Amino acid sequence: RSIFKPGKRIGIVVPELEKYISLLKRELSAELVPNSIFKPDEQVFNISLALPLSQEPMIKVAIDLLNIKSATITINKFLSFIQSPFLGFAYPPSQEISDLERKLRKRRILSISLDQFESTYGNIPQIKRLVEVLRSWVSHKDLFTLSPYENNLLPSEWTEKISAVLKAFNWPGYSKDSTSHQFVLSKRHQSFETWKNCLNQLSSLNQILGPINREKALEYFTNIVQNTPFQIKTPEHSIQVVGLLESSGMQFDHLWIMGCHSEALPAHPEPNPFIPYEIRNKFSIPRSNSQRELEFAEQSLKRLIVASPDVHCSFPLHEGDMDLEISPLIKSFPNIDKTNYLSKRIKDHILTLTDLEELTEPEFLPATDTEKRLYSTEGISSGYALLKDQVECPFRAFARYRLNSERHQIPEVDYDNLDRGNVIHKALELFWFDTVDSDTLLELSKDSLEKQLKRYVREALKICSIRTTNQTQFNNLEIERNIRVIHDWLLAIELKRPSFRIHKLEKSISINLAGIKLLLRIDRIDEIPGKGLLLIDYKAGRDAKPTEWFAEKIRSPQLPLYSMDEPPAGLAYGHLVIGKPEFKGTTIPDFPLGQFKNHDFKKITGCSSWEELLKHWKTRLNRVADEFLRGKHTVAPINKGEPCRYCEFDSLCRVQETLETWESD
Ligand code: SF4
Repeated sequence: RSIFKPGKRIGIVVPELEKYISLLKRELSAELVPNSIFKPDEQVFNISLALPLSQEPMIKVAIDLLNIKSATITINKFLSFIQSPFLGFAYPPSQEISDLERKLRKRRILSISLDQFESTYGNIPQIKRLVEVLRSWVSHKDLFTLSPYENNLLPSEWTEKISAVLKAFNWPGYSKDSTSHQFVLSKRHQSFETWKNCLNQLSSLNQILGPINREKALEYFTNIVQNTPFQIKTPEHSIQVVGLLESSGMQFDHLWIMGCHSEALPAHPEPNPFIPYEIRNKFSIPRSNSQRELEFAEQSLKRLIVASPDVHCSFPLHEGDMDLEISPLIKSFPNIDKTNYLSKRIKDHILTLTDLEELTEPEFLPATDTEKRLYSTEGISSGYALLKDQVECPFRAFARYRLNSERHQIPEVDYDNLDRGNVIHKALELFWFDTVDSDTLLELSKDSLEKQLKRYVREALKICSIRTTNQTQFNNLEIERNIRVIHDWLLAIELKRPSFRIHKLEKSISINLAGIKLLLRIDRIDEIPGKGLLLIDYKAGRDAKPTEWFAEKIRSPQLPLYSMDEPPAGLAYGHLVIGKPEFKGTTIPDFPLGQFKNHDFKKITGCSSWEELLKHWKTRLNRVADEFLRGKHTVAPINKGEPCRYCEFDSLCRVQETLETWESD
């Protein structure tokens, strides 16, 4: 910035330009065009490195569309289509498209079927059109006549089909919108022109290829697009960023050669194994041997030093974990004092301002009357999670329940731990629905127990995992595994228990805490003859610790909360894991449960009676609910930020910045 003058040419030469292109683009934009963060792509510099045309977002979406081969498409791809401005969709997406996205994410599906799209996901006209065109494309039918495509066509005929179908997709979504920046429009136009050249290239293969089918035509075309370099033509810029080779013959008023470390200057040889050794050496092919690279680096440096009256070289001290050294080729150059140039990035400027305005954030942001009315009438489903969040980090509860923030991540696989837990819960529910007490369980022979388990697990999988319905092999493995889990549990725990009777399964309740209606569901309630009720919560994944019920802050409020519905005589976790099932919790004295690990509440809490413990929980939980209503929303994760490990709100609460400040203090 300090040396910039209109008409002067400034050069930045980067030996490994292709490696750093996106980093350079970002940093140079931030430093030289701070307002580029508002107007994307506006540049005062030019980076002369052409990337493949297929990497241009507008082209990528077209190639993705053309290469859809079946009527089932992945959810990520589908979302990228319905949010693409190149297909005429608004960006940011309209409300109805955002709602659809939320719906799809909530259902945790990995792919959608185009054939069932309308009946399942409603009828947004713009998406309906996209789905129709996609459907006719994957079924190889002409969009307008709906007659099947001819199997083999000449490449030039395929180019017409490709253009027609993309037009039907509304691609490239040109807008005459005056708010679109000139640069963006020009970039779109140039990409489109290059795309047309690629189509011409495909047409020119008529004589060589003759009639080919659609797959072949698309394969050739995709190949052409991937191998076509694309660089946007911009007006002459004063600042040119170029690689070593491209810098040849250029003259500058000021020149900065960056990245001159020993690993890059000279570069490491990377000989092409498909070119014979003799030929590589005879013709001194680039990257063929270290001697050639050394000579190239020396010549380039010599040339650059005379290409400008003002040359600066620099090298990085580190890259990732690796320490770097100065290139031996510039070691003899005179050293200048290491200068820390001040950053011009907006973010860095804000951080260094000394007269920052101080703002004291109120610790409490009380719930409004409307919110309170909503909490007390509609209630909060899975309400225990609200209390858990409030205890683990008040801001998390605030973000989830007051700001209604949520992130539904698309699962990476079509069956994960959540599904597995649901299947086990469901299978146990079905099992105990028929096996009503310990006597019925004891009467089951080994054989019929196994048969029953197989039936219930199979049924549970059908109900809870629609996404894997057609994966017979996988389902069989999963059924086998879940049978083992439940079998081990029954054998090690349930069959050794004294008499009990199933009182309720998956009972839905609602509890009112400080004016908030919490909607809950209890896995199972057993009746122990002559003693009372036992609340059971199954855990199929992470271990659960009853000690958390007795802590100052109750991190696992589920069972203590349930105890406010029908006062029980004991609470228990059923931890279902292969080979090591556990039955543990806390109960009134002399409560016969067999292989049960009882945590003596009197010793841990100091409560003298069971009734006192129930009252103690009620008071504590009411206090947490009240704290939520009063609006405590501080970013204060317990246990040194342990809850942050699994929290999706880290970018919202910016806890990282707080931690950095604490650390630097
Ligand atoms: S990331 Fe940590 S601090 Fe931020 S909301 Fe989540 S739990 Fe709280």
